[in-house]
Amino acid sequence: MIYKLPVRLEDGQTFTSIPSTNLSFPKTSGYDSDNLRVTNIVGIKNGDFLKECPKCGRAKCSEEFGLRITVNRDQSECTDCRGEY
Ligand SMILES: [Zn+2]
Repeated sequence: MIYKLPVRLEDGQTFTSIPSTNLSFPKTSGYDSDNLRVTNIVGIKNGDFLKECPKCGRAKCSEEFGLRITVNRDQSECTDCRGEY
């Protein structure tokens, strides 16, 4: 999980904790508690946010994307698509 709770999404959902049950919902974005931009969230899985990569179209956990600290937002594309390991 690369975000700091609570995470507030633009569809009105606020996550103060990560639900133990998996969820899926229409793609949305928002901000975490550090005002970090959170993008392309499509659900919850195994204790992390699921985020959709616009390049490969796959939904993966946020850990597979990482952060862009200097611009205070998450990475748009997954690490596989960026070729970083
Ligand atoms: Zn990808």
